[in-house]
Amino acid sequence: KAKNPAEKEFHQAVQEVLESLIPALERHPEYISHKILERVTEPERLLMFRVPWFDDKGEIQVNRGFRIEMNSAIGPYKGGLRFHPSVNLGILKFLAFEQVFKNSLTTLPMGGGKGGSDFDPKGKSDNEVMRFCQSFMTELQRHIGPDTDVPAGDIGVGGREIGFLFGQYKRLRNEFTGVLTGKGLNWGGSLIRPEATGYGCVYFAEEMLKTVKQTLEGKVCLVSGSGNVSQYTIEKLLDLGAKPIACSDSNGIIHDPAGIDREKLAYILDLKNTKRGRISDYAEKFKTAKYIPVDPKLDHNPLWDIKADCAFPSATQNEINAKDAKNLIKNGCKVVSEGANMPSTLEATNLFLEAGVLYGPAKAANAGGVATSGLEMAQNSARLAWTREEVDHRLHNIMIAIHKNCFETAEKYGKPGNLVVGANIGGFLKIADSMLDQGLV
Ligand code: NDP
Repeated sequence: KAKNPAEKEFHQAVQEVLESLIPALERHPEYISHKILERVTEPERLLMFRVPWFDDKGEIQVNRGFRIEMNSAIGPYKGGLRFHPSVNLGILKFLAFEQVFKNSLTTLPMGGGKGGSDFDPKGKSDNEVMRFCQSFMTELQRHIGPDTDVPAGDIGVGGREIGFLFGQYKRLRNEFTGVLTGKGLNWGGSLIRPEATGYGCVYFAEEMLKTVKQTLEGKVCLVSGSGNVSQYTIEKLLDLGAKPIACSDSNGIIHDPAGIDREKLAYILDLKNTKRGRISDYAEKFKTAKYIPVDPKLDHNPLWDIKADCAFPSATQNEINAKDAKNLIKNGCKVVSEGANMPSTLEATNLFLEAGVLYGPAKAANAGGVATSGLEMAQNSARLAWTREEVDHRLHNIMIAIHKNCFETAEKYGKPGNLVVGANIGGFLKIADSMLDQGLV
């Protein structure tokens, strides 16, 4: 902590991982003697840069850009870019650290990285977003490449931003390669990539439920957020016969006891992706729903106090605190599958584990997004495109394999059912062994 002051999210992520690695470290003293822990917590390379751009009034704006190249033991750095005013070094380091183990779990050859900016795309015109993206890529392009570092989207970075970033990379480098994932279908993108994180998170919940001989059919579900991950979580829940009844954005929550059906989901997609509107409009359009605005004075999130069988946190980090976890447990929630990265605080995670909730930690449950990015890279390298069914089938099998790995690793290391231990040890072993093989790197 003295070495990385004020990086509280990074400390939180490192603490969670290191505590759960203890059973593995006891069996592998070579990881200690070779200082693997000291090495995996230090980024291989950390880039911070100025991003100047003109707004529509002709005034100069200056943002800060970041790329954290955390670990390349098993492949090129891979991880998203986040554009949000809250972005800082500690948040991106936590995300990059988690990404290393997540990517290892996918079974694909990808190292870990993360990046972004404190730029806020909200309220900006398309031209402003484009000028920002072009300036951001003007610096970033010298550090990345299809065999070096392959960024993707995250909060605030969707198809529009990836398009502008890719266009600028191509102009500057004069090459058309798979340097970014999440690309448009006409120019190298993969089918199912937009859906992958949400679909994967639901597939993971399905696998957890199979261990207690249940399915998602008829289960009442809470989903936070209303962005990329939330939208496709809701879609896959509907495919599997579940009943999503709530979602949110940074201003408030909608609770729709009648259920968010396909027509309402189509409305959300148009509202959020095309009109870039607020979720409060949903309650004006559909009278079965109630809108609850965010109240910063509350010590809990009312979304997690709605009675439901399953919860899919899909907005942001630390959106479930201890009180929220207690509310979910009290109301009979039996499944938590994390679409967002680190949405539960350490206290909340421990409460879920103690209560025997089927708890799918982010680095396992939301790995479907990056796994499908890995499939996009494979298609780009081969210069061909797989069908929707082919990609979905591979994604589904990867999620089944990740769950199996986490489940069996937890048993092997004496913590049956604890998928936090299973995911952390499962992801870590491959990284640690690869680092040992490659000498002092
Ligand atoms: P989007 O930007 O598409 O959507 C984010 C959603 O969460 C929006 O509804 C947003 O509200 C809400 N939100 C964001 N920040 C906050 C906040 N501080 N408080 C309350 N609500 C907030 O992002 P994604 O769906 O891509 O990402 C969501 C989460 O999933 C993140 O944790 C991300 O790291 C993780 N993730 C995403 C992957 C992907 O493939 N996209 C892959 C793996 C993980 P508003 O509309 O008001 O901004």
